[in-house]
Amino acid sequence: MAQFLERAAVPAYGARMNIVTGLADDLPDLPHVRQLKSGFHGLKFDPELEREFRRSRLDEILGHLRVNLCLAITIAIAFSALEALVLGRDLDRIPSEIRILAIMPLLLIVLAASFSPRRDLVYAPAAIAAMLMYGLSQVVIQLVASAGGIEFLFPCMILTTIFIYLMAGLTFYQALATNMVVLFAYLAAGTALQSSGPEFSYDALALVTANLFGASVVYMHERTSRTRFLEAKLLGEMVARDGLTGIQNRRMFDQHIKRVWQQAVREEERVAVLLVDIDCFKNYNDRYGHQAGDECLRAVATSLSQSARRPLDFAARYGGEEFAVVLYEASREYVAEVLTRIQRSIAELNIPHEASTAATRLTVSIGAAFIMPTVTRTPEGLIQLADEALYSAKEQGRNRVVVMEAEYQNLRTGRFEKRRTQSSG
Ligand code: GH3
Ligand code: MG
Ligand code: MG
Repeated sequence: MAQFLERAAVPAYGARMNIVTGLADDLPDLPHVRQLKSGFHGLKFDPELEREFRRSRLDEILGHLRVNLCLAITIAIAFSALEALVLGRDLDRIPSEIRILAIMPLLLIVLAASFSPRRDLVYAPAAIAAMLMYGLSQVVIQLVASAGGIEFLFPCMILTTIFIYLMAGLTFYQALATNMVVLFAYLAAGTALQSSGPEFSYDALALVTANLFGASVVYMHERTSRTRFLEAKLLGEMVARDGLTGIQNRRMFDQHIKRVWQQAVREEERVAVLLVDIDCFKNYNDRYGHQAGDECLRAVATSLSQSARRPLDFAARYGGEEFAVVLYEASREYVAEVLTRIQRSIAELNIPHEASTAATRLTVSIGAAFIMPTVTRTPEGLIQLADEALYSAKEQGRNRVVVMEAEYQNLRTGRFEKRRTQSSG
């Protein structure tokens, strides 16, 4: 039983991180992989990753933040009502209008910022400024009331501190800096205005303690959420990439071609699919061994991914020793340019292949198809056209490119699939 429990136990934090970073070894040098391996000291990522983290964190907590802000506004009203009830005519001894005139509008501004389409830019500055004013207003209310002999408002100072740490959506450093200004304002103004009597010392110590607790909780929470963020990105990357070559896998190809197809229909742009198949690769494995074959696949994959350079261009391992490249805005000239680039880069790899019937070096055959997508056509048709082109390139003797364009109308469905079944069987 004990043994079972031991095995079922979740690995300790350090051990889990080792497992995760170990899995990242196969992945290319991506920002989050680098960050996960190097760690993040002082709760800070590299600038680009930091921006992404903050954006995704804000989106994740947005619903909660809005509820928190509405709650704070409601509670501010409730406290004002309670003070009016309890103090009656003495209400003018505390500056309660600050709550209505300053704190509530500030909270409403932050709430509005949370609905802004540019909230990734405006929310944090708005929230920091508002929380600072909120905290300082609370200091004024507290000290003026205290000078007037009303001491029971102090819990609101603690609540404000906790709100700034935990409920306003600030990062650890933003919340800490804001609360430090508020704390020092309270200590400085309190010391200047009041006798340093036991009550003030007691309240000051309570406020310092609330800061310690709040900061500690936010620190732990942010550390965990940063690690989760990196792990989630890493996991997404592992799902998207081919384990052997590190380029995108078939799953991503299928998703990408659908997305690009829809965009191309909307924008009336041409799309090209290039199917790249290594020639006589079975013979290569037989002659040089499977390990050398794997090295070859990696080298070809890297060459291909470097050949598809525009933002919507995409290279993936399609399966086995076959790769697919998708090109967007694929003019005839651009397709020709990429094809030349691919052939040149494969030639530059200069990998000996004595068992090939096509050449003495490793070569590829490429079937390329490009068309203008329409709603009545499907991406599968385009892929099949590229498949036909590849079949034709193989039949013509390998180590060559066949491009199909106009033939799309006369596509002979299933012809290539039939040959494949025969050859692989
Ligand atoms: P063709 O010129 O007609 O394309 O011939 P081919 O030998 O390249 O094609 P075939 O389909 O007969 O064989 C494909 C070979 O690719 C067989 C398989 O062992 C090899 N292969 C597929 N995936 C991998 C892999 O991940 N690593 C290695 N080393 N070889 C692989
Ligand atoms: Mg092959
Ligand atoms: Mg093949």
